[in-house]
Amino acid sequence: MDKLPFERPIIKKIETGMPSKFGMRSSYQVISDIDGVPVKEIIENYGSPCYVISEKTIRETYKDAYRAFSTKYPKVQFAWSYKTNYMNAVCKVYHSEGSWAEVVSGFEYDKALANGMQGSKIIFNGPDKSIEDLTKAINNKSLIHIDHFDELYTIIELCDSLKERPKVAIRVNMDTGIFPQWTRFGFNYENGEAWDAINRIMVSGKIDFIGLHAHIGTYVMVASAYGMAATKLADLASQLYTKYNHVVKYIDLGGGFASKNTLKGAYLPGTDTTPSFDEYADAISSALLKSAIKPDNLPTLILETGRALIDDAGSIVGTVLANKRLADKSRTMILDVGVNMLFTSFWYEHKITPAQEFSGQTEVTKMYGPLCMNIDVIRESIEFPLLKKDDNFVISRIGAYNMTQWMQFITLRPNIIMIDLEGKAHIIRKAETQNDVVANEIVPDYLK
Ligand SMILES: *Cc1c(COP(=O)(O)O)cnc(C)c1O
Repeated sequence: MDKLPFERPIIKKIETGMPSKFGMRSSYQVISDIDGVPVKEIIENYGSPCYVISEKTIRETYKDAYRAFSTKYPKVQFAWSYKTNYMNAVCKVYHSEGSWAEVVSGFEYDKALANGMQGSKIIFNGPDKSIEDLTKAINNKSLIHIDHFDELYTIIELCDSLKERPKVAIRVNMDTGIFPQWTRFGFNYENGEAWDAINRIMVSGKIDFIGLHAHIGTYVMVASAYGMAATKLADLASQLYTKYNHVVKYIDLGGGFASKNTLKGAYLPGTDTTPSFDEYADAISSALLKSAIKPDNLPTLILETGRALIDDAGSIVGTVLANKRLADKSRTMILDVGVNMLFTSFWYEHKITPAQEFSGQTEVTKMYGPLCMNIDVIRESIEFPLLKKDDNFVISRIGAYNMTQWMQFITLRPNIIMIDLEGKAHIIRKAETQNDVVANEIVPDYLK
Protein backbone atom coordinates (compact mmCIF):
# COMPACT_ATOMS: atom_id res chain seq x y z
CA MET A 1 0.00 0.00 0.00
CA ASP A 2 1.24 3.48 -0.84
CA LYS A 3 2.09 5.72 2.07
CA LEU A 4 -0.69 8.28 2.43
CA PRO A 5 0.43 11.90 1.93
CA PHE A 6 0.86 13.95 5.09
CA GLU A 7 -1.94 16.33 5.89
CA ARG A 8 -1.25 18.96 8.53
CA PRO A 9 -3.65 18.56 11.47
CA ILE A 10 -6.06 21.36 12.28
CA ILE A 11 -7.94 22.07 15.46
CA LYS A 12 -11.59 22.76 14.91
CA LYS A 13 -14.43 23.47 17.28
CA ILE A 14 -16.96 20.66 17.06
CA GLU A 15 -20.51 21.92 16.70
CA THR A 16 -22.57 18.75 16.74
CA GLY A 17 -25.95 18.99 15.13
CA MET A 18 -25.38 22.59 14.02
CA PRO A 19 -26.56 22.85 10.46
CA SER A 20 -25.07 25.40 8.14
CA LYS A 21 -27.64 27.52 6.30
CA PHE A 22 -27.79 24.89 3.56
CA GLY A 23 -28.19 21.86 5.81
CA MET A 24 -26.02 19.55 7.83
CA ARG A 25 -22.82 19.34 5.84
CA SER A 26 -21.06 20.39 2.74
CA SER A 27 -20.32 17.45 0.52
CA TYR A 28 -17.77 17.45 -2.27
CA GLN A 29 -17.37 15.03 -5.09
CA VAL A 30 -14.20 15.05 -7.11
CA ILE A 31 -14.41 16.41 -10.65
CA SER A 32 -11.54 14.50 -12.24
CA ASP A 33 -12.54 14.95 -15.87
CA ILE A 34 -14.55 17.21 -18.17
CA ASP A 35 -16.52 15.35 -20.84
CA GLY A 36 -14.18 12.40 -20.37
CA VAL A 37 -10.92 14.35 -20.64
CA PRO A 38 -8.97 14.07 -17.35
CA VAL A 39 -8.29 17.43 -15.69
CA LYS A 40 -4.65 16.36 -15.10
CA GLU A 41 -4.27 15.70 -18.80
CA ILE A 42 -5.75 19.11 -19.70
CA ILE A 43 -3.25 20.80 -17.41
CA GLU A 44 -0.34 18.70 -18.69
CA ASN A 45 -1.17 19.46 -22.33
CA TYR A 46 -2.51 22.99 -22.19
CA GLY A 47 -1.06 24.46 -19.01
CA SER A 48 -2.58 25.80 -15.80
CA PRO A 49 -4.89 27.59 -15.63
CA CYS A 50 -6.88 26.67 -18.72
CA TYR A 51 -10.41 27.56 -19.78
CA VAL A 52 -12.45 24.57 -20.92
CA ILE A 53 -15.64 24.73 -22.97
CA SER A 54 -17.91 21.75 -23.41
CA GLU A 55 -19.51 21.71 -26.85
CA LYS A 56 -21.87 19.00 -25.61
CA THR A 57 -23.18 21.20 -22.80
CA ILE A 58 -23.62 24.16 -25.17
CA ARG A 59 -25.70 22.09 -27.57
CA GLU A 60 -27.74 20.38 -24.86
CA THR A 61 -28.56 23.64 -23.09
CA TYR A 62 -29.44 25.31 -26.40
CA LYS A 63 -31.79 22.49 -27.36
CA ASP A 64 -33.43 22.55 -23.94
CA ALA A 65 -34.03 26.32 -24.15
CA TYR A 66 -35.28 26.16 -27.73
CA ARG A 67 -37.64 23.30 -26.88
CA ALA A 68 -39.03 25.27 -23.93
CA PHE A 69 -39.97 28.23 -26.17
CA SER A 70 -40.89 26.48 -29.43
CA THR A 71 -43.35 24.15 -27.72
CA LYS A 72 -45.21 27.15 -26.30
CA TYR A 73 -45.09 29.64 -29.14
CA PRO A 74 -45.31 29.01 -32.90
CA LYS A 75 -42.43 31.14 -34.22
CA VAL A 76 -39.19 31.34 -32.24
CA GLN A 77 -35.72 32.57 -33.22
CA PHE A 78 -32.64 32.74 -30.99
CA ALA A 79 -29.82 35.26 -31.57
CA TRP A 80 -26.51 34.57 -29.82
CA SER A 81 -25.39 37.47 -27.61
CA TYR A 82 -21.81 37.97 -28.77
CA LYS A 83 -20.62 39.95 -25.76
CA THR A 84 -21.46 37.02 -23.47
CA ASN A 85 -18.81 34.89 -25.17
CA TYR A 86 -17.49 35.83 -28.59
CA MET A 87 -14.90 33.13 -29.11
CA ASN A 88 -15.42 32.32 -32.79
CA ALA A 89 -15.65 28.58 -32.14
CA VAL A 90 -18.38 29.19 -29.54
CA CYS A 91 -20.34 31.50 -31.89
CA LYS A 92 -20.05 28.94 -34.69
CA VAL A 93 -21.58 26.25 -32.47
CA TYR A 94 -24.57 28.51 -31.77
CA HIS A 95 -24.90 29.46 -35.43
CA SER A 96 -24.83 25.79 -36.39
CA GLU A 97 -27.76 25.24 -33.99
CA GLY A 98 -29.71 27.90 -35.91
CA SER A 99 -28.95 30.95 -33.81
CA TRP A 100 -28.58 34.38 -35.40
CA ALA A 101 -26.06 36.91 -34.03
CA GLU A 102 -26.82 39.73 -31.57
CA VAL A 103 -24.04 42.32 -31.45
CA VAL A 104 -23.49 45.61 -29.62
CA SER A 105 -20.48 47.16 -31.38
CA GLY A 106 -18.82 47.49 -34.76
CA PHE A 107 -16.15 45.07 -33.56
CA GLU A 108 -18.75 42.42 -32.71
CA TYR A 109 -20.63 43.13 -35.94
CA ASP A 110 -17.52 42.40 -38.00
CA LYS A 111 -16.88 39.27 -35.95
CA ALA A 112 -20.38 38.00 -36.78
CA LEU A 113 -19.84 38.67 -40.50
CA ALA A 114 -16.48 36.88 -40.35
CA ASN A 115 -18.24 33.93 -38.68
CA GLY A 116 -20.35 33.60 -41.81
CA MET A 117 -23.53 35.24 -40.55
CA GLN A 118 -25.66 36.77 -43.27
CA GLY A 119 -26.21 40.48 -42.65
CA SER A 120 -29.96 39.96 -42.47
CA LYS A 121 -29.46 37.63 -39.49
CA ILE A 122 -27.44 40.08 -37.41
CA ILE A 123 -29.24 42.13 -34.77
CA PHE A 124 -27.37 45.34 -34.01
CA ASN A 125 -28.05 46.62 -30.49
CA GLY A 126 -26.43 49.14 -28.18
CA PRO A 127 -26.06 52.89 -27.75
CA ASP A 128 -22.84 53.21 -29.78
CA LYS A 129 -23.22 52.75 -33.53
CA SER A 130 -21.00 54.99 -35.65
CA ILE A 131 -22.03 56.32 -39.07
CA GLU A 132 -19.72 53.68 -40.60
CA ASP A 133 -21.35 50.94 -38.50
CA LEU A 134 -24.86 52.07 -39.43
CA THR A 135 -23.97 52.39 -43.12
CA LYS A 136 -22.62 48.85 -43.15
CA ALA A 137 -25.62 47.49 -41.25
CA ILE A 138 -28.12 49.27 -43.54
CA ASN A 139 -26.38 48.03 -46.70
CA ASN A 140 -26.29 44.48 -45.30
CA LYS A 141 -30.02 44.63 -44.39
CA SER A 142 -29.26 43.91 -40.73
CA LEU A 143 -31.81 44.49 -37.99
CA ILE A 144 -30.95 47.78 -36.31
CA HIS A 145 -32.37 48.28 -32.84
CA ILE A 146 -32.49 52.01 -32.22
CA ASP A 147 -31.43 53.15 -28.76
CA HIS A 148 -32.12 56.92 -28.78
CA PHE A 149 -33.53 59.81 -30.85
CA ASP A 150 -30.11 60.98 -32.07
CA GLU A 151 -29.55 57.55 -33.58
CA LEU A 152 -32.98 57.67 -35.21
CA TYR A 153 -32.25 61.06 -36.81
CA THR A 154 -28.88 59.79 -38.08
CA ILE A 155 -30.62 56.82 -39.69
CA ILE A 156 -33.23 59.06 -41.33
CA GLU A 157 -30.38 61.14 -42.74
CA LEU A 158 -28.61 58.02 -44.04
CA CYS A 159 -31.74 56.81 -45.86
CA ASP A 160 -31.36 59.57 -48.43
CA SER A 161 -27.64 59.23 -49.02
CA LEU A 162 -27.68 55.41 -49.14
CA LYS A 163 -30.97 55.10 -51.04
CA GLU A 164 -31.90 52.12 -48.86
CA ARG A 165 -34.82 51.41 -46.55
CA PRO A 166 -33.22 50.43 -43.23
CA LYS A 167 -34.83 47.63 -41.26
CA VAL A 168 -35.27 48.82 -37.72
CA ALA A 169 -36.80 48.06 -34.36
CA ILE A 170 -36.74 50.24 -31.28
CA ARG A 171 -35.49 49.18 -27.90
CA VAL A 172 -38.09 49.88 -25.24
CA ASN A 173 -37.47 50.15 -21.49
CA MET A 174 -40.24 49.87 -18.96
CA ASP A 175 -41.33 49.06 -15.45
CA THR A 176 -41.64 45.28 -15.19
CA GLY A 177 -41.94 45.19 -11.43
CA ILE A 178 -38.26 44.41 -10.83
CA PHE A 179 -35.47 46.45 -9.32
CA PRO A 180 -33.28 47.98 -10.65
CA GLN A 181 -35.31 49.20 -13.61
CA TRP A 182 -32.98 49.71 -16.56
CA THR A 183 -34.00 53.00 -18.16
CA ARG A 184 -30.72 54.05 -19.74
CA PHE A 185 -31.18 51.94 -22.87
CA GLY A 186 -33.89 52.56 -25.41
CA PHE A 187 -37.12 54.55 -25.22
CA ASN A 188 -39.36 54.55 -22.19
CA TYR A 189 -42.78 52.93 -22.42
CA GLU A 190 -44.64 54.57 -19.55
CA ASN A 191 -43.83 58.20 -20.42
CA GLY A 192 -44.85 57.77 -24.05
CA GLU A 193 -41.36 58.15 -25.49
CA ALA A 194 -41.46 54.73 -27.19
CA TRP A 195 -44.75 55.59 -28.89
CA ASP A 196 -43.30 58.95 -29.92
CA ALA A 197 -40.30 57.21 -31.53
CA ILE A 198 -42.59 54.79 -33.37
CA ASN A 199 -44.67 57.66 -34.79
CA ARG A 200 -41.56 59.47 -35.99
CA ILE A 201 -40.35 56.33 -37.74
CA MET A 202 -43.74 55.66 -39.35
CA VAL A 203 -44.26 59.19 -40.65
CA SER A 204 -40.70 59.42 -42.00
CA GLY A 205 -41.86 57.00 -44.70
CA LYS A 206 -38.25 55.94 -45.29
CA ILE A 207 -37.80 53.16 -42.79
CA ASP A 208 -39.03 49.55 -42.53
CA PHE A 209 -40.27 49.32 -38.97
CA ILE A 210 -40.15 45.61 -38.34
CA GLY A 211 -39.77 44.90 -34.64
CA LEU A 212 -40.00 45.80 -30.98
CA HIS A 213 -37.21 45.01 -28.56
CA ALA A 214 -36.67 44.96 -24.81
CA HIS A 215 -33.79 43.65 -22.70
CA ILE A 216 -34.98 44.30 -19.19
CA GLY A 217 -31.88 43.42 -17.18
CA THR A 218 -29.49 40.61 -16.49
CA TYR A 219 -29.73 37.65 -14.11
CA VAL A 220 -33.46 38.41 -13.77
CA MET A 221 -34.86 35.86 -11.30
CA VAL A 222 -38.52 36.72 -11.82
CA ALA A 223 -40.14 35.11 -14.85
CA SER A 224 -43.27 37.27 -14.53
CA ALA A 225 -41.17 40.39 -15.34
CA TYR A 226 -40.82 39.01 -18.87
CA GLY A 227 -44.57 38.49 -19.05
CA MET A 228 -45.05 42.16 -18.22
CA ALA A 229 -42.45 43.24 -20.79
CA ALA A 230 -44.14 41.09 -23.46
CA THR A 231 -47.53 42.57 -22.60
CA LYS A 232 -46.22 46.13 -23.00
CA LEU A 233 -44.50 45.39 -26.31
CA ALA A 234 -47.63 43.63 -27.58
CA ASP A 235 -49.60 46.69 -26.56
CA LEU A 236 -47.35 48.92 -28.71
CA ALA A 237 -47.76 46.46 -31.60
CA SER A 238 -51.56 46.69 -31.30
CA GLN A 239 -51.53 50.50 -31.17
CA LEU A 240 -49.36 50.48 -34.27
CA TYR A 241 -51.85 48.23 -36.04
CA THR A 242 -54.80 50.37 -35.01
CA LYS A 243 -53.25 53.64 -36.11
CA TYR A 244 -51.19 52.61 -39.17
CA ASN A 245 -52.55 49.19 -40.07
CA HIS A 246 -48.92 48.10 -39.79
CA VAL A 247 -47.80 44.69 -38.51
CA VAL A 248 -44.41 44.16 -36.84
CA LYS A 249 -42.57 41.02 -37.88
CA TYR A 250 -41.04 40.26 -34.50
CA ILE A 251 -40.99 40.96 -30.81
CA ASP A 252 -37.55 40.50 -29.25
CA LEU A 253 -37.44 40.01 -25.49
CA GLY A 254 -33.67 40.13 -25.21
CA GLY A 255 -31.80 38.04 -22.67
CA GLY A 256 -31.13 38.30 -18.98
CA PHE A 257 -32.39 34.89 -17.91
CA ALA A 258 -30.52 33.81 -14.78
CA SER A 259 -27.93 31.05 -15.03
CA LYS A 260 -27.64 28.51 -12.22
CA ASN A 261 -24.82 30.43 -10.55
CA THR A 262 -25.25 31.63 -6.98
CA LEU A 263 -25.12 35.38 -6.42
CA LYS A 264 -22.99 36.65 -3.55
CA GLY A 265 -25.04 36.93 -0.42
CA ALA A 266 -27.84 34.74 -1.79
CA TYR A 267 -29.47 32.59 0.88
CA LEU A 268 -29.97 29.53 -1.31
CA PRO A 269 -27.88 28.18 -4.20
CA GLY A 270 -28.79 29.30 -7.71
CA THR A 271 -29.47 25.71 -8.75
CA ASP A 272 -32.49 25.80 -6.41
CA THR A 273 -33.76 29.31 -7.00
CA THR A 274 -33.40 30.35 -10.63
CA PRO A 275 -36.39 29.85 -12.95
CA SER A 276 -36.18 27.19 -15.66
CA PHE A 277 -36.40 28.02 -19.38
CA ASP A 278 -39.94 26.62 -19.24
CA GLU A 279 -40.98 29.18 -16.64
CA TYR A 280 -39.59 32.10 -18.68
CA ALA A 281 -41.18 30.67 -21.84
CA ASP A 282 -44.54 30.24 -20.11
CA ALA A 283 -44.61 33.85 -18.94
CA ILE A 284 -43.64 35.28 -22.34
CA SER A 285 -45.78 33.06 -24.56
CA SER A 286 -48.84 33.44 -22.41
CA ALA A 287 -48.55 37.25 -22.50
CA LEU A 288 -48.17 37.31 -26.29
CA LEU A 289 -50.91 34.79 -27.01
CA LYS A 290 -53.48 36.55 -24.86
CA SER A 291 -52.58 40.01 -26.16
CA ALA A 292 -54.79 41.91 -28.63
CA ILE A 293 -52.55 40.85 -31.55
CA LYS A 294 -54.59 38.84 -34.05
CA PRO A 295 -53.43 35.22 -34.56
CA ASP A 296 -52.51 35.85 -38.22
CA ASN A 297 -50.32 38.76 -37.18
CA LEU A 298 -48.45 37.03 -34.36
CA PRO A 299 -44.84 38.21 -34.51
CA THR A 300 -41.82 35.95 -34.40
CA LEU A 301 -40.48 35.76 -30.86
CA ILE A 302 -36.75 36.51 -30.79
CA LEU A 303 -34.61 35.78 -27.73
CA GLU A 304 -31.06 36.97 -27.14
CA THR A 305 -30.34 34.91 -24.08
CA GLY A 306 -26.63 34.80 -23.19
CA ARG A 307 -25.51 33.76 -19.75
CA ALA A 308 -28.21 31.14 -19.17
CA LEU A 309 -27.11 29.35 -22.36
CA ILE A 310 -23.34 29.35 -21.92
CA ASP A 311 -22.50 29.53 -18.20
CA ASP A 312 -22.72 25.78 -17.53
CA ALA A 313 -20.62 24.95 -20.59
CA GLY A 314 -17.51 26.80 -19.32
CA SER A 315 -15.03 25.79 -16.61
CA ILE A 316 -11.58 26.91 -15.66
CA VAL A 317 -9.11 24.35 -14.31
CA GLY A 318 -6.24 25.48 -12.15
CA THR A 319 -3.62 24.68 -9.55
CA VAL A 320 -3.13 25.50 -5.88
CA LEU A 321 -0.01 27.66 -5.57
CA ALA A 322 0.16 27.69 -1.79
CA ASN A 323 -1.68 27.36 1.47
CA LYS A 324 -1.16 30.09 3.98
CA ARG A 325 -2.38 30.89 7.48
CA LEU A 326 -2.91 34.56 8.10
CA ALA A 327 -1.95 36.29 11.34
CA ASP A 328 -5.44 35.64 12.69
CA LYS A 329 -4.93 31.89 12.04
CA SER A 330 -7.53 31.82 9.30
CA ARG A 331 -6.86 29.46 6.41
CA THR A 332 -6.24 30.85 2.95
CA MET A 333 -5.35 29.23 -0.33
CA ILE A 334 -3.59 30.92 -3.26
CA LEU A 335 -4.84 29.76 -6.64
CA ASP A 336 -3.34 30.42 -10.06
CA VAL A 337 -6.74 31.78 -11.22
CA GLY A 338 -7.22 35.46 -10.43
CA VAL A 339 -10.01 37.98 -10.92
CA ASN A 340 -8.28 39.09 -14.13
CA MET A 341 -9.50 35.86 -15.74
CA LEU A 342 -12.54 35.28 -13.56
CA PHE A 343 -14.29 38.61 -13.65
CA THR A 344 -17.59 37.09 -12.51
CA SER A 345 -16.12 36.24 -9.11
CA PHE A 346 -17.07 39.83 -8.22
CA TRP A 347 -20.75 38.76 -8.44
CA TYR A 348 -20.93 35.01 -8.01
CA GLU A 349 -19.97 32.48 -5.39
CA HIS A 350 -18.43 30.17 -7.94
CA LYS A 351 -18.50 26.43 -7.43
CA ILE A 352 -14.94 25.19 -6.86
CA THR A 353 -14.24 21.46 -6.75
CA PRO A 354 -11.07 19.42 -6.13
CA ALA A 355 -9.83 17.52 -9.18
CA GLN A 356 -8.28 14.62 -7.20
CA GLU A 357 -9.15 12.49 -4.17
CA PHE A 358 -9.01 14.24 -0.82
CA SER A 359 -9.76 13.39 2.79
CA GLY A 360 -13.10 14.21 4.36
CA GLN A 361 -11.57 17.05 6.38
CA THR A 362 -12.76 20.55 5.49
CA GLU A 363 -12.08 23.99 6.89
CA VAL A 364 -13.41 27.46 6.20
CA THR A 365 -11.02 28.82 3.60
CA LYS A 366 -10.52 32.12 1.84
CA MET A 367 -9.34 31.77 -1.74
CA TYR A 368 -7.01 34.30 -3.30
CA GLY A 369 -5.89 34.60 -6.88
CA PRO A 370 -2.21 35.08 -7.76
CA LEU A 371 -2.29 38.83 -8.36
CA CYS A 372 -0.44 41.24 -6.14
CA MET A 373 -3.59 43.21 -5.48
CA ASN A 374 -5.92 43.16 -2.53
CA ILE A 375 -9.17 42.73 -4.46
CA ASP A 376 -7.96 39.48 -6.00
CA VAL A 377 -10.31 37.20 -4.06
CA ILE A 378 -12.03 34.26 -5.74
CA ARG A 379 -14.07 33.11 -2.72
CA GLU A 380 -14.43 35.07 0.52
CA SER A 381 -15.28 32.06 2.60
CA ILE A 382 -15.85 28.48 1.59
CA GLU A 383 -15.93 25.28 3.62
CA PHE A 384 -13.31 23.48 1.57
CA PRO A 385 -11.21 20.29 1.64
CA LEU A 386 -7.55 20.70 2.54
CA LEU A 387 -5.93 20.70 -0.87
CA LYS A 388 -2.16 20.85 -1.05
CA LYS A 389 0.23 22.87 -3.16
CA ASP A 390 0.14 21.60 -6.78
CA ASP A 391 -3.29 20.00 -6.35
CA ASN A 392 -5.79 20.85 -9.05
CA PHE A 393 -9.32 22.17 -8.96
CA VAL A 394 -12.15 22.97 -11.32
CA ILE A 395 -14.22 26.17 -11.16
CA SER A 396 -17.56 25.48 -12.83
CA ARG A 397 -20.20 27.59 -14.59
CA ILE A 398 -17.90 30.31 -15.84
CA GLY A 399 -18.80 30.27 -19.56
CA ALA A 400 -20.53 33.67 -19.56
CA TYR A 401 -18.63 36.97 -19.73
CA ASN A 402 -15.26 35.72 -18.40
CA MET A 403 -13.78 35.23 -21.88
CA THR A 404 -14.88 38.72 -22.94
CA GLN A 405 -14.71 40.88 -19.81
CA TRP A 406 -11.31 39.53 -18.79
CA MET A 407 -8.51 41.97 -18.07
CA GLN A 408 -5.01 41.87 -19.40
CA PHE A 409 -3.46 42.61 -16.05
CA ILE A 410 -0.23 41.30 -14.48
CA THR A 411 -0.39 37.87 -16.15
CA LEU A 412 -1.03 36.63 -19.70
CA ARG A 413 -4.32 35.04 -20.70
CA PRO A 414 -4.17 31.23 -20.79
CA ASN A 415 -5.33 28.72 -23.43
CA ILE A 416 -9.02 28.16 -24.09
CA ILE A 417 -9.91 24.67 -25.23
CA MET A 418 -13.19 23.23 -26.47
CA ILE A 419 -14.00 19.57 -26.00
CA ASP A 420 -15.97 18.32 -28.99
CA LEU A 421 -18.82 15.82 -29.02
CA GLU A 422 -16.36 12.93 -29.39
CA GLY A 423 -14.38 13.99 -26.31
CA LYS A 424 -11.49 15.45 -28.28
CA ALA A 425 -9.91 18.70 -27.08
CA HIS A 426 -9.16 21.59 -29.46
CA ILE A 427 -7.40 24.84 -28.64
CA ILE A 428 -9.84 27.60 -29.68
CA ARG A 429 -7.73 30.50 -28.40
CA LYS A 430 -4.00 30.19 -27.85
CA ALA A 431 -2.38 31.34 -24.63
CA GLU A 432 -1.05 34.85 -25.05
CA THR A 433 2.66 35.45 -25.38
CA GLN A 434 4.74 38.39 -24.24
CA ASN A 435 4.68 39.63 -27.83
CA ASP A 436 0.86 39.60 -28.10
CA VAL A 437 0.74 42.10 -25.28
CA VAL A 438 3.68 44.38 -26.13
CA ALA A 439 3.27 44.31 -29.95
CA ASN A 440 1.25 47.53 -29.99
CA GLU A 441 3.55 49.44 -27.64
CA ILE A 442 5.78 52.15 -29.03
CA VAL A 443 8.76 53.58 -27.18
CA PRO A 444 9.50 57.14 -28.42
CA ASP A 445 12.89 57.44 -30.11
CA TYR A 446 14.37 59.66 -27.40
CA LEU A 447 13.87 56.85 -24.83
CA LYS A 448 15.43 54.12 -26.92
C1 LIG B 1 -26.02 41.57 -22.81
C2 LIG B 1 -27.21 41.51 -23.65
C3 LIG B 1 -27.89 40.28 -23.85
C4 LIG B 1 -27.51 39.01 -23.15
O1 LIG B 1 -27.74 39.13 -21.77
P1 LIG B 1 -27.62 37.88 -20.77
O2 LIG B 1 -27.86 38.48 -19.43
O3 LIG B 1 -26.23 37.35 -20.91
O4 LIG B 1 -28.64 36.88 -21.17
C5 LIG B 1 -28.98 40.31 -24.72
N1 LIG B 1 -29.40 41.45 -25.33
C6 LIG B 1 -28.77 42.62 -25.12
C7 LIG B 1 -29.28 43.83 -25.80
C8 LIG B 1 -27.67 42.70 -24.28
O5 LIG B 1 -27.07 43.89 -24.08
